[in-house]
Amino acid sequence: RSGAALTAQTPSTMRAANLPTVCRRYLNQDVRITRTGKPVLTVSGGRSSLGGYTATVFGATGFLGRYIVNRLARSGCTVIVPFREEMAKRHLKVAGDLGRVVFLEMDLRNTQSIEESVRHSDIVYNLIGRDYPTKNFDLEDVHVHGTERIAEAVAKYDIDRFVHVSSHSASLDSPSEFYRTKARGEQVAREIYPETTIVRPAPMFGFEDRLLNRLAGATNVLTSNWMQEYLYPTHAIDVGMALEKMLHDDTTAAETFELYGPTGYTMAEINELVGAEIIKNRRHINVPKRLLKPIGAALNKYIWWPTISADEIEREFIDQTIDPKAKTYKDLDIEPVDLKSVLYEYLKGYRSPSYYDLPPMTEREKREEKKYLHVID
Ligand code: NDP
Repeated sequence: RSGAALTAQTPSTMRAANLPTVCRRYLNQDVRITRTGKPVLTVSGGRSSLGGYTATVFGATGFLGRYIVNRLARSGCTVIVPFREEMAKRHLKVAGDLGRVVFLEMDLRNTQSIEESVRHSDIVYNLIGRDYPTKNFDLEDVHVHGTERIAEAVAKYDIDRFVHVSSHSASLDSPSEFYRTKARGEQVAREIYPETTIVRPAPMFGFEDRLLNRLAGATNVLTSNWMQEYLYPTHAIDVGMALEKMLHDDTTAAETFELYGPTGYTMAEINELVGAEIIKNRRHINVPKRLLKPIGAALNKYIWWPTISADEIEREFIDQTIDPKAKTYKDLDIEPVDLKSVLYEYLKGYRSPSYYDLPPMTEREKREEKKYLHVID
Protein backbone atom coordinates (compact mmCIF):
# COMPACT_ATOMS: atom_id res chain seq x y z
CA ARG A 1 0.00 0.00 0.00
CA SER A 2 1.12 3.54 -0.61
CA GLY A 3 2.08 5.93 2.22
CA ALA A 4 -1.05 8.00 1.55
CA ALA A 5 -3.24 4.94 1.99
CA LEU A 6 -1.56 4.09 5.30
CA THR A 7 -2.40 7.48 6.79
CA ALA A 8 -6.07 7.08 5.89
CA GLN A 9 -6.94 5.59 9.28
CA THR A 10 -10.52 6.52 10.08
CA PRO A 11 -13.28 4.12 8.98
CA SER A 12 -14.93 6.73 6.73
CA THR A 13 -11.70 7.67 4.93
CA MET A 14 -10.81 4.00 4.59
CA ARG A 15 -14.19 3.25 3.08
CA ALA A 16 -13.84 6.21 0.71
CA ALA A 17 -10.42 4.94 -0.41
CA ASN A 18 -11.86 1.44 -0.81
CA LEU A 19 -9.47 -0.02 1.74
CA PRO A 20 -10.32 -3.06 3.85
CA THR A 21 -11.66 -1.86 7.22
CA VAL A 22 -12.20 -5.28 8.77
CA CYS A 23 -9.61 -5.46 11.58
CA ARG A 24 -9.14 -1.87 12.63
CA ARG A 25 -12.67 -0.62 12.26
CA TYR A 26 -13.40 0.00 15.93
CA LEU A 27 -10.03 1.24 17.07
CA ASN A 28 -9.52 4.92 17.67
CA GLN A 29 -5.78 4.76 18.07
CA ASP A 30 -3.61 7.79 18.31
CA VAL A 31 -0.09 8.73 19.36
CA ARG A 32 0.01 11.86 21.46
CA ILE A 33 3.16 13.76 22.29
CA THR A 34 3.24 15.08 25.85
CA ARG A 35 4.76 18.40 26.93
CA THR A 36 8.13 16.77 27.57
CA GLY A 37 8.10 15.05 24.18
CA LYS A 38 7.10 11.60 25.39
CA PRO A 39 4.93 9.64 22.92
CA VAL A 40 1.83 8.10 24.51
CA LEU A 41 -0.23 5.55 22.63
CA THR A 42 -3.89 6.12 23.42
CA VAL A 43 -6.53 3.57 22.58
CA SER A 44 -10.17 4.17 23.38
CA GLY A 45 -10.97 0.51 23.69
CA GLY A 46 -12.00 0.42 27.36
CA ARG A 47 -10.43 -0.93 30.52
CA SER A 48 -8.42 -3.69 28.85
CA SER A 49 -6.72 -1.39 26.31
CA LEU A 50 -2.96 -1.45 26.17
CA GLY A 51 -1.16 1.86 26.31
CA GLY A 52 -2.49 5.13 27.58
CA TYR A 53 -1.29 7.53 30.21
CA THR A 54 0.16 6.78 33.62
CA ALA A 55 -1.44 8.92 36.31
CA THR A 56 -0.73 9.29 40.02
CA VAL A 57 -3.71 10.23 42.20
CA PHE A 58 -2.79 11.40 45.72
CA GLY A 59 -5.81 11.35 48.03
CA ALA A 60 -7.51 8.69 45.89
CA THR A 61 -8.86 6.93 48.99
CA GLY A 62 -11.21 9.85 49.75
CA PHE A 63 -14.64 10.74 48.43
CA LEU A 64 -13.65 12.43 45.17
CA GLY A 65 -10.76 10.02 44.52
CA ARG A 66 -12.88 7.10 43.33
CA TYR A 67 -14.56 9.25 40.67
CA ILE A 68 -11.28 10.07 38.96
CA VAL A 69 -9.51 6.71 39.50
CA ASN A 70 -12.53 4.96 38.02
CA ARG A 71 -12.62 7.21 34.95
CA LEU A 72 -8.90 6.89 34.27
CA ALA A 73 -8.67 3.15 34.86
CA ARG A 74 -11.66 2.29 32.73
CA SER A 75 -10.12 4.04 29.74
CA GLY A 76 -6.98 1.94 29.99
CA CYS A 77 -4.70 4.35 31.90
CA THR A 78 -2.35 2.99 34.53
CA VAL A 79 -3.25 4.59 37.84
CA ILE A 80 -0.79 4.84 40.73
CA VAL A 81 -2.60 5.13 44.04
CA PRO A 82 -0.39 6.23 46.95
CA PHE A 83 -2.09 5.13 50.17
CA ARG A 84 -1.45 5.05 53.91
CA GLU A 85 -4.15 2.68 55.17
CA GLU A 86 -4.54 -0.87 53.78
CA MET A 87 -8.31 -1.04 54.15
CA ALA A 88 -9.02 2.42 52.75
CA LYS A 89 -7.84 1.56 49.24
CA ARG A 90 -9.50 -1.81 48.58
CA HIS A 91 -12.48 -0.53 46.59
CA LEU A 92 -10.17 1.06 44.01
CA LYS A 93 -8.60 -2.24 42.95
CA VAL A 94 -11.56 -3.20 40.77
CA ALA A 95 -11.73 0.17 39.01
CA GLY A 96 -9.32 -1.09 36.35
CA ASP A 97 -8.09 -4.26 34.71
CA LEU A 98 -5.54 -6.50 36.41
CA GLY A 99 -2.34 -4.54 37.03
CA ARG A 100 -3.79 -1.22 35.97
CA VAL A 101 -4.37 0.16 39.47
CA VAL A 102 -1.05 0.08 41.29
CA PHE A 103 -0.88 0.76 45.03
CA LEU A 104 2.19 2.32 46.65
CA GLU A 105 2.57 3.02 50.35
CA MET A 106 3.19 6.71 50.99
CA ASP A 107 3.62 9.10 53.86
CA LEU A 108 3.14 12.83 53.41
CA ARG A 109 6.33 13.55 55.37
CA ASN A 110 8.40 10.94 53.54
CA THR A 111 9.84 12.61 50.44
CA GLN A 112 11.23 9.37 49.05
CA SER A 113 7.81 7.69 49.07
CA ILE A 114 6.29 10.72 47.29
CA GLU A 115 9.02 10.65 44.64
CA GLU A 116 8.52 6.92 44.09
CA SER A 117 4.81 7.57 43.54
CA VAL A 118 5.26 10.22 40.86
CA ARG A 119 8.38 9.39 38.90
CA HIS A 120 6.88 7.17 36.19
CA SER A 121 3.75 9.27 35.65
CA ASP A 122 2.59 11.60 32.89
CA ILE A 123 0.16 13.42 35.17
CA VAL A 124 -0.13 13.86 38.93
CA TYR A 125 -3.38 14.76 40.67
CA ASN A 126 -3.24 16.01 44.25
CA LEU A 127 -6.57 15.50 46.01
CA ILE A 128 -5.14 15.41 49.52
CA GLY A 129 -7.04 17.60 51.95
CA ARG A 130 -8.57 17.57 55.43
CA ASP A 131 -11.56 19.50 56.75
CA TYR A 132 -10.25 19.52 60.32
CA PRO A 133 -6.85 19.31 62.04
CA THR A 134 -5.88 15.83 63.27
CA LYS A 135 -3.54 14.65 66.03
CA ASN A 136 -0.53 14.32 63.74
CA PHE A 137 -1.30 16.77 60.93
CA ASP A 138 -2.64 20.30 61.27
CA LEU A 139 -4.21 22.03 58.24
CA GLU A 140 -0.90 23.72 57.37
CA ASP A 141 0.90 20.34 57.28
CA VAL A 142 -1.64 18.85 54.89
CA HIS A 143 -2.49 21.77 52.59
CA VAL A 144 0.82 23.67 52.47
CA HIS A 145 3.76 21.43 53.42
CA GLY A 146 2.19 18.33 51.85
CA THR A 147 1.50 20.21 48.60
CA GLU A 148 5.03 21.59 48.66
CA ARG A 149 6.58 18.11 48.83
CA ILE A 150 4.37 16.77 46.07
CA ALA A 151 5.00 19.78 43.79
CA GLU A 152 8.75 19.48 44.39
CA ALA A 153 8.69 15.81 43.38
CA VAL A 154 6.63 16.69 40.29
CA ALA A 155 9.14 19.39 39.31
CA LYS A 156 12.15 17.16 40.07
CA TYR A 157 11.00 14.39 37.72
CA ASP A 158 9.64 16.90 35.16
CA ILE A 159 6.18 15.35 35.09
CA ASP A 160 4.10 16.64 32.17
CA ARG A 161 1.08 17.80 34.12
CA PHE A 162 0.19 18.62 37.74
CA VAL A 163 -3.44 19.12 38.78
CA HIS A 164 -3.89 20.42 42.31
CA VAL A 165 -7.33 20.28 43.95
CA SER A 166 -7.81 23.23 46.28
CA SER A 167 -11.17 24.54 47.52
CA HIS A 168 -13.85 27.08 46.70
CA SER A 169 -13.47 30.37 48.62
CA ALA A 170 -9.71 29.79 49.12
CA SER A 171 -8.30 33.14 50.17
CA LEU A 172 -5.16 34.29 51.96
CA ASP A 173 -7.09 36.66 54.25
CA SER A 174 -10.03 34.37 55.04
CA PRO A 175 -11.06 34.08 58.72
CA SER A 176 -11.07 30.27 58.20
CA GLU A 177 -7.75 28.47 58.53
CA PHE A 178 -8.93 25.85 56.00
CA TYR A 179 -9.46 28.45 53.24
CA ARG A 180 -6.24 30.28 54.18
CA THR A 181 -4.11 27.14 54.02
CA LYS A 182 -5.79 26.05 50.76
CA ALA A 183 -4.86 29.44 49.23
CA ARG A 184 -1.28 29.08 50.52
CA GLY A 185 -1.17 25.59 48.99
CA GLU A 186 -2.17 27.01 45.59
CA GLN A 187 0.55 29.64 45.87
CA VAL A 188 3.22 27.11 46.81
CA ALA A 189 2.23 24.76 43.98
CA ARG A 190 2.42 27.56 41.40
CA GLU A 191 5.76 28.84 42.76
CA ILE A 192 7.37 25.41 42.43
CA TYR A 193 5.59 24.23 39.27
CA PRO A 194 4.14 27.21 37.35
CA GLU A 195 2.08 25.03 34.96
CA THR A 196 0.00 23.68 37.86
CA THR A 197 -3.70 23.45 37.02
CA ILE A 198 -5.65 24.56 40.09
CA VAL A 199 -9.13 23.16 40.63
CA ARG A 200 -11.45 24.71 43.22
CA PRO A 201 -14.52 22.50 43.65
CA ALA A 202 -17.66 23.75 45.37
CA PRO A 203 -19.12 21.58 48.19
CA MET A 204 -19.64 18.23 46.49
CA PHE A 205 -22.59 15.86 46.66
CA GLY A 206 -22.65 12.17 45.81
CA PHE A 207 -23.00 8.78 47.49
CA GLU A 208 -20.20 9.25 50.02
CA ASP A 209 -20.50 13.02 50.49
CA ARG A 210 -20.39 15.02 53.71
CA LEU A 211 -23.23 17.32 52.64
CA LEU A 212 -26.40 15.32 52.01
CA ASN A 213 -25.37 12.41 54.25
CA ARG A 214 -24.80 14.78 57.16
CA LEU A 215 -28.18 16.47 56.76
CA ALA A 216 -30.02 13.17 56.25
CA GLY A 217 -28.20 11.28 59.02
CA ALA A 218 -29.80 10.47 62.37
CA THR A 219 -27.39 12.48 64.51
CA ASN A 220 -28.48 15.97 65.44
CA VAL A 221 -27.19 18.64 63.14
CA LEU A 222 -25.40 21.24 65.24
CA THR A 223 -24.87 24.59 63.56
CA SER A 224 -24.16 28.17 64.59
CA ASN A 225 -25.39 30.24 61.67
CA TRP A 226 -28.97 28.95 61.38
CA MET A 227 -27.79 27.22 58.16
CA GLN A 228 -27.60 30.54 56.37
CA GLU A 229 -24.34 29.97 54.44
CA TYR A 230 -24.82 30.22 50.70
CA LEU A 231 -23.27 27.64 48.36
CA TYR A 232 -23.40 26.27 44.83
CA PRO A 233 -23.13 22.51 45.37
CA THR A 234 -21.63 20.45 42.58
CA HIS A 235 -21.86 16.79 41.59
CA ALA A 236 -18.75 14.72 42.43
CA ILE A 237 -19.16 12.90 39.09
CA ASP A 238 -18.94 16.24 37.23
CA VAL A 239 -15.73 17.10 39.08
CA GLY A 240 -14.30 13.65 38.21
CA MET A 241 -15.24 14.23 34.56
CA ALA A 242 -13.55 17.66 34.60
CA LEU A 243 -10.37 16.20 36.11
CA GLU A 244 -10.26 13.56 33.38
CA LYS A 245 -10.77 16.14 30.62
CA MET A 246 -7.80 18.10 31.96
CA LEU A 247 -5.55 15.13 31.20
CA HIS A 248 -6.50 15.18 27.52
CA ASP A 249 -6.43 18.95 27.10
CA ASP A 250 -3.01 20.55 27.57
CA THR A 251 -4.48 24.05 27.25
CA THR A 252 -5.75 23.61 30.81
CA ALA A 253 -2.16 23.74 32.14
CA ALA A 254 -1.43 26.81 34.31
CA GLU A 255 -5.17 27.63 34.49
CA THR A 256 -7.46 27.95 37.51
CA PHE A 257 -10.86 26.26 37.39
CA GLU A 258 -13.77 26.90 39.74
CA LEU A 259 -16.21 24.02 39.50
CA TYR A 260 -19.61 24.87 40.95
CA GLY A 261 -23.20 23.83 40.35
CA PRO A 262 -25.76 25.81 38.33
CA THR A 263 -27.94 26.84 41.32
CA GLY A 264 -27.12 28.50 44.62
CA TYR A 265 -28.80 27.38 47.85
CA THR A 266 -28.57 28.28 51.51
CA MET A 267 -27.82 25.29 53.72
CA ALA A 268 -31.35 25.67 55.18
CA GLU A 269 -32.85 25.28 51.69
CA ILE A 270 -30.82 22.13 51.08
CA ASN A 271 -31.91 20.84 54.50
CA GLU A 272 -35.53 21.41 53.53
CA LEU A 273 -35.09 19.56 50.22
CA VAL A 274 -33.39 16.68 52.03
CA GLY A 275 -36.21 16.52 54.62
CA ALA A 276 -38.84 16.38 51.85
CA GLU A 277 -36.94 13.64 50.03
CA ILE A 278 -36.37 11.37 53.04
CA ILE A 279 -39.84 12.15 54.43
CA LYS A 280 -38.43 12.80 57.87
CA ASN A 281 -37.76 15.94 59.85
CA ARG A 282 -34.28 15.71 61.30
CA ARG A 283 -33.69 17.67 64.49
CA HIS A 284 -31.51 20.70 64.01
CA ILE A 285 -29.98 22.64 66.90
CA ASN A 286 -28.47 26.08 66.60
CA VAL A 287 -25.82 26.85 69.21
CA PRO A 288 -24.16 30.31 69.38
CA LYS A 289 -20.72 30.41 67.80
CA ARG A 290 -18.97 31.51 71.01
CA LEU A 291 -20.21 28.31 72.71
CA LEU A 292 -19.91 25.84 69.84
CA LYS A 293 -16.40 26.85 68.74
CA PRO A 294 -14.67 25.84 72.02
CA ILE A 295 -16.78 22.64 72.13
CA GLY A 296 -15.75 21.87 68.55
CA ALA A 297 -12.09 22.55 69.31
CA ALA A 298 -12.19 20.25 72.38
CA LEU A 299 -14.07 17.46 70.57
CA ASN A 300 -11.67 17.63 67.65
CA LYS A 301 -8.70 17.35 70.02
CA TYR A 302 -9.80 14.40 72.15
CA ILE A 303 -12.08 12.39 69.85
CA TRP A 304 -10.42 10.59 67.00
CA TRP A 305 -13.39 10.25 64.64
CA PRO A 306 -14.68 13.22 62.65
CA THR A 307 -17.27 15.22 64.62
CA ILE A 308 -17.11 18.99 64.37
CA SER A 309 -14.13 21.30 64.48
CA ALA A 310 -13.78 24.98 65.39
CA ASP A 311 -12.78 25.85 61.83
CA GLU A 312 -15.84 24.15 60.33
CA ILE A 313 -18.01 26.38 62.55
CA GLU A 314 -16.10 29.44 61.33
CA ARG A 315 -16.71 28.33 57.72
CA GLU A 316 -20.48 28.38 58.30
CA PHE A 317 -20.26 32.16 58.41
CA ILE A 318 -18.56 32.40 55.01
CA ASP A 319 -20.62 32.25 51.82
CA GLN A 320 -19.06 30.57 48.80
CA THR A 321 -17.20 33.13 46.71
CA ILE A 322 -16.79 32.84 42.95
CA ASP A 323 -13.74 34.16 41.16
CA PRO A 324 -14.96 35.74 37.89
CA LYS A 325 -11.50 35.30 36.31
CA ALA A 326 -11.39 31.55 36.87
CA LYS A 327 -12.48 29.08 34.19
CA THR A 328 -15.54 26.92 34.79
CA TYR A 329 -17.29 23.78 33.58
CA LYS A 330 -18.29 25.71 30.46
CA ASP A 331 -14.67 25.89 29.33
CA LEU A 332 -14.51 22.10 29.56
CA ASP A 333 -17.82 21.57 27.71
CA ILE A 334 -19.49 20.06 30.75
CA GLU A 335 -23.09 20.81 31.70
CA PRO A 336 -23.13 20.69 35.53
CA VAL A 337 -25.88 18.70 37.22
CA ASP A 338 -28.23 20.46 39.63
CA LEU A 339 -28.58 19.10 43.15
CA LYS A 340 -32.37 18.80 42.91
CA SER A 341 -32.29 16.45 39.93
CA VAL A 342 -30.34 13.68 41.70
CA LEU A 343 -31.51 14.04 45.31
CA TYR A 344 -33.82 11.03 45.11
CA GLU A 345 -31.02 8.79 43.85
CA TYR A 346 -28.69 9.66 46.72
CA LEU A 347 -31.25 9.83 49.52
CA LYS A 348 -33.68 6.98 48.85
CA GLY A 349 -31.81 4.80 51.33
CA TYR A 350 -32.73 7.16 54.16
CA ARG A 351 -36.48 6.69 53.70
CA SER A 352 -38.25 4.57 56.25
CA PRO A 353 -38.89 0.98 55.02
CA SER A 354 -42.51 1.36 56.14
CA TYR A 355 -42.97 4.04 53.51
CA TYR A 356 -43.60 2.77 50.05
CA ASP A 357 -43.28 5.13 47.15
CA LEU A 358 -42.61 4.76 43.48
CA PRO A 359 -39.64 6.59 42.02
CA PRO A 360 -40.55 9.63 39.93
CA MET A 361 -41.98 8.53 36.59
CA THR A 362 -39.78 8.93 33.55
CA GLU A 363 -41.22 10.65 30.49
CA ARG A 364 -41.58 7.25 28.79
CA GLU A 365 -43.48 5.76 31.70
CA LYS A 366 -45.76 8.79 31.75
CA ARG A 367 -46.62 8.19 28.11
CA GLU A 368 -47.32 4.49 28.56
CA GLU A 369 -48.98 4.79 31.94
CA LYS A 370 -49.09 1.51 33.85
CA LYS A 371 -52.43 -0.29 34.18
CA TYR A 372 -51.74 -2.12 37.40
CA LEU A 373 -49.65 -1.25 40.42
CA HIS A 374 -48.45 -4.26 42.40
CA VAL A 375 -47.65 -3.78 46.06
CA ILE A 376 -46.19 -7.03 47.35
CA ASP A 377 -46.17 -7.90 51.12
P1 NDP B 1 -11.64 13.33 51.65
O1 NDP B 1 -11.51 13.91 53.03
O2 NDP B 1 -12.73 12.38 51.39
O3 NDP B 1 -10.27 12.64 51.24
C1 NDP B 1 -9.09 13.25 51.53
C2 NDP B 1 -7.93 12.43 51.03
O4 NDP B 1 -6.74 13.05 51.50
C3 NDP B 1 -7.94 11.00 51.55
O5 NDP B 1 -7.47 10.15 50.55
C4 NDP B 1 -6.93 11.05 52.70
O6 NDP B 1 -6.24 9.83 52.90
C5 NDP B 1 -5.96 12.09 52.19
N1 NDP B 1 -5.25 12.70 53.31
C6 NDP B 1 -5.73 13.57 54.22
N2 NDP B 1 -4.77 13.90 55.09
C7 NDP B 1 -3.66 13.22 54.73
C8 NDP B 1 -2.35 13.13 55.24
N3 NDP B 1 -1.97 13.81 56.32
N4 NDP B 1 -1.47 12.31 54.61
C9 NDP B 1 -1.83 11.61 53.51
N5 NDP B 1 -3.07 11.65 52.97
C10 NDP B 1 -3.97 12.45 53.59
O7 NDP B 1 -11.71 14.59 50.65
P2 NDP B 1 -12.61 14.72 49.33
O8 NDP B 1 -12.35 13.55 48.46
O9 NDP B 1 -13.98 15.06 49.72
O10 NDP B 1 -11.98 16.02 48.65
C11 NDP B 1 -10.87 15.96 47.79
C12 NDP B 1 -10.21 17.33 47.80
O11 NDP B 1 -11.17 18.33 47.48
C13 NDP B 1 -9.63 17.71 49.16
O12 NDP B 1 -8.44 18.40 48.97
C14 NDP B 1 -10.69 18.63 49.73
O13 NDP B 1 -10.13 19.57 50.64
C15 NDP B 1 -11.19 19.33 48.48
N6 NDP B 1 -12.55 19.82 48.61
C16 NDP B 1 -13.58 18.97 48.93
C17 NDP B 1 -14.86 19.45 49.03
C18 NDP B 1 -16.01 18.52 49.34
O14 NDP B 1 -17.15 18.97 49.37
N7 NDP B 1 -15.78 17.26 49.60
C19 NDP B 1 -15.17 20.87 48.81
C20 NDP B 1 -14.03 21.66 48.48
C21 NDP B 1 -12.78 21.14 48.37
P3 NDP B 1 -6.79 8.74 53.96
O15 NDP B 1 -7.90 8.03 53.27
O16 NDP B 1 -5.60 7.89 54.19
O17 NDP B 1 -7.24 9.50 55.17
